[in-house]
Amino acid sequence: MEELTHYIDGKRVKGASGRFSDVFNPATGEVQARVPLATKAELDAAVAVAAEAQKGWAATNPQRRARVMMKFGQLINDHMDELAELVSREHGKTLPDGRGDVQRGLEVVEVCMGAPHMLKGEFTDDGGPGIDLYSMRQPLGVVAGITPFNFPAMIPLWKMAPALACGNAMILKPSERCPSTALRLVELIEEAGLPKGVLQVVNGDKEAVDAILDNETIQAVGFVGSTPIAQYIYGRAATNGKRAQCFGGAKNHMIVMPDADLDKAADALVGAGYGAAGERCMAISVAVPVGEKTADALVERLVPRIEKLKVGPYTAGADVDYGPVITKQAEERIRGLIDSGVDQGAELLVDGRDFRLQGYETGFFIGPSLFDRVTPDMDIYKEEIFGPVLSQVRAESYEDALRLTMDNPYGNGTAIFTSDGDTARDFAHRVNVGMVGINFPIPVPLSYHTFGGWKKSAFGDLNQYGPDAFRFYTRTKTVTERWFSGIKEGGEFHFKQMD
Ligand code: NAD
Repeated sequence: MEELTHYIDGKRVKGASGRFSDVFNPATGEVQARVPLATKAELDAAVAVAAEAQKGWAATNPQRRARVMMKFGQLINDHMDELAELVSREHGKTLPDGRGDVQRGLEVVEVCMGAPHMLKGEFTDDGGPGIDLYSMRQPLGVVAGITPFNFPAMIPLWKMAPALACGNAMILKPSERCPSTALRLVELIEEAGLPKGVLQVVNGDKEAVDAILDNETIQAVGFVGSTPIAQYIYGRAATNGKRAQCFGGAKNHMIVMPDADLDKAADALVGAGYGAAGERCMAISVAVPVGEKTADALVERLVPRIEKLKVGPYTAGADVDYGPVITKQAEERIRGLIDSGVDQGAELLVDGRDFRLQGYETGFFIGPSLFDRVTPDMDIYKEEIFGPVLSQVRAESYEDALRLTMDNPYGNGTAIFTSDGDTARDFAHRVNVGMVGINFPIPVPLSYHTFGGWKKSAFGDLNQYGPDAFRFYTRTKTVTERWFSGIKEGGEFHFKQMD
């Protein structure tokens, strides 16, 4: 069985802890590799390497750093199929979806090619007599990225590209479920010219994460994962004086107004609800049709579409719609939640529990499920299911649908389908959710905007990628300067007014 490694100081390094985590092939249920879990000592040693390497990297001018991003972008493109296969092999998502995972990360690398522009400071000429002020953006030093299983390429790239373009060194701790893509990306960025030690991959679990949070050299932590862990990491990092931005789970609602194009809404719901087996933080998991007539008409369109979905391994060809879920535990948890929905009185219109795929009986597959007449007190509404399950909650009016969305503790993404501009505008303006789609089910912003949820979907005050990332990964220093050209004054004992 393949034994994976860390990537430290320019090379793949075997784990020293003797502890490993299994990496599954989710389509067969077999263990295909094991990944080492780092100790605190291994993590601290990698940080010491990073701190040394960061000095030279920070002294490399931003344009040269950007050239590394350009070459890296090219290499990602050249290796697109290889990277997508790495993603799909460990995650189980289809190959086109694996390519999308790489592509949406690559787009953040592309924005980082313009880093010199983003890192320009500010200048005030003559802020007072003979006084100028300038602000500069300096790197933080060593930072850490801790990433989830569900986007093994995209989210590591969201973290590493801006952090490195800003002149930091990074310790990346990818998910122990899907670590191979990050290990390959670090090789590619070194091939693009990144000096060794500036980006290192340390694999691990809670022990490595806690070592990151307590390491005094690490200045900032960027996390993506589930809400309880996001909240824990944010609290511990902040207590230790680090910058932290921690993105958590989601329960994304899509409101369907009576005037919506219902065929388009149904297509959107099926793609956004079941794509990647529902394992996306921007998946739509709650459909909220307004009015009984809309709800009935929507169900009529959803059921046949869902029944046609093709579930299978990524190797089965381009017509597979989605693959297995990530682990046996995830599969059992999702099945348990579907059972609870039935027990608590929701109507299970499509039941994916009995789905079996010949030849893949031990894989972690679940068929698509659709619930109708779900109410907010049910577990299937309250929990982030993170599986191929769509719940329909019927709303009496637009205001009810809006209130339901706003009362939900999560605030990652939401969408409205309508043909009325007034309603759409009102929704976008009032809803307390970070990313909003209008006739657009998964509104992940493009890489030159920023990505971030509200409420329990994010802890911290800046978003990922785009201009916010350049703020997060740099700190501002402001210089006030005066050159004495004939101005003679004694000591000053009060704040000087700039007049
Ligand atoms: P997870 O929280 O289990 O793991 C995320 C990371 O935290 C991993 O690297 C893992 O090793 C580490 N970790 C896990 N348990 C830990 C603990 N007790 N202490 C310290 N570290 C720990 O999340 P996951 O299952 O890998 O990913 C799915 C979750 O991520 C979903 O909730 C999904 O909504 C969320 N997600 C959010 C976004 C976003 O941008 N908001 C994007 C993608 C995924």
